[in-house]
Amino acid sequence: MIGTEAALETVSFYVNGKWEAAGSRPVLPVTNPATGAAIAQVAYASAADVDRTVQAAHAAYLKWREVPVVERVQPFFRYKALLEKHANDLAAALTAENGKTVDDARMEVRRAIQMVEVACGMPSLMMGDSLNDVSSGIDSHTIRQPIGVCVGITPFNFPAMVPMWMWPFAIACGNTFVLKPSEKVPMTPTMATTLLHQAGLPEGVFNLIHGDKIAVDALLHHPLVRAVSFVGSTPVAKYIYQTAAAEGKRVQALGGAKNHLVVMPDADLPKSVDAIIGSAFGAAGERCLAGSVLVAVGEVADPLLKLLAEKVSAMKVGDGSQQGVDMGPLVTKDHKTRVEGYIDKGVAEGATPLLDGRAVKCEGEGFFLGPTIFDNVRPEMTIAREEIFGPVLSVIRVKTLDEAITLVNSSRFGNATSIFTGSGKAAREYSSRVEAGMVGINIGVAAPMAFFPFAGWKNSFFGDLHAHGKDAVMFYTEQKVLMTRWF
Ligand code: NAD
Repeated sequence: MIGTEAALETVSFYVNGKWEAAGSRPVLPVTNPATGAAIAQVAYASAADVDRTVQAAHAAYLKWREVPVVERVQPFFRYKALLEKHANDLAAALTAENGKTVDDARMEVRRAIQMVEVACGMPSLMMGDSLNDVSSGIDSHTIRQPIGVCVGITPFNFPAMVPMWMWPFAIACGNTFVLKPSEKVPMTPTMATTLLHQAGLPEGVFNLIHGDKIAVDALLHHPLVRAVSFVGSTPVAKYIYQTAAAEGKRVQALGGAKNHLVVMPDADLPKSVDAIIGSAFGAAGERCLAGSVLVAVGEVADPLLKLLAEKVSAMKVGDGSQQGVDMGPLVTKDHKTRVEGYIDKGVAEGATPLLDGRAVKCEGEGFFLGPTIFDNVRPEMTIAREEIFGPVLSVIRVKTLDEAITLVNSSRFGNATSIFTGSGKAAREYSSRVEAGMVGINIGVAAPMAFFPFAGWKNSFFGDLHAHGKDAVMFYTEQKVLMTRWF
């Protein structure tokens, strides 16, 4: 629970239906990126904390799996109502610790609520198949059963939504859950857990701990953990996938991205530019679906860049909690320095800065960086290849759609991509040939809704079954086939 210690709130754990004090555990500050000030502190879990939590979740699982699915979803209906009632409070907490604008935070909360809505349909989603007379007098059918304690390890950029890609589905399927959110943004998941407590899940069904690699490693190696869902950067995703799989666990590990936005000469320029701005600079580029490379095909480049630079220069950067702000700060000072390093590199490697975000100054000690656009970027440059995760858009000029597809497919990432065009033929060709998990056609952020699966390809995803949608039901259940004959 959030308690008061040393003048700052201390965010701690929710285990077996009870809030725990931080006690003598290490606590680290939680910072408001718009002011640079510490707004809370968060306790870090030890391996012993993890063991205790997983044991509680396992004990709860043995009872929860016996509860009929129609009863299991009842707390989710109550939870949905509570989330609706407190949506603005959640969004405000999110802005305070993550930095994204309030409008953006509200959209995130909306997406989180949609996950709960879909999980409410679990009685239908969990149904198996059946076929009578597979042989003379023999019938066969499949059932889906829960697997046990499931774990979620989540990133800083969507503290309301990404955890809900996981646990509402897992729990409605009859599993129990341990969430370890990003230690940079523990307050939003804590507030969401306070509401879940009110919704009335039995003790131990959902548990929340905080911490770093120590907690994560203890979860990955715990024998009672059956499935691990991870969302974060590619190196960590790969590590989680390999470590948990070696322990015989089910894993879905969603990693980083380098998303290309392709603009054809026949695109609707004003509408495409608005979508490109939302994609590249929304949430200060701290989205796994953020457009990072703009691929201008043929003669579209000059008019596209003219309009883009004009509109982006008018963007207001500032504290995301204030009305009228288009882009908030980056999440931490370190991250800001890292993104600035990429801008330095872009200049050093010979790209042309059309807009340089380093020149944008805001009041106070917040981690602000303005939108940056580089023209004349070449595919081999660092800014064209690596995930920057900030408000930096690299423009590569190509002559044909074919050249664009070859360029996009040369990336080691394959999360999302978009094409802007008036041609159905070009859109069809692009979407069928491109190597990415999520494709937008005249859409800047191709984020699948809760009832569709979400994940990339290549180094953007390690695993088989994607997040949310029907994939989540398959991920969080084991399938059994029954053959029946009556004498
Ligand atoms: P991150 O990989 O640093 O951290 C993610 C989680 O892993 C956190 O809970 C963190 O505590 C834990 N962690 C960090 N280092 C670890 C280590 N060495 N061992 C074990 N656990 C560790 O990611 P982040 O900076 O919080 O989030 C940004 C990244 O997430 C970006 O790369 C972004 O593309 C990615 N992301 C991907 C998706 C997707 O759907 N593919 C969605 C959101 C974010």
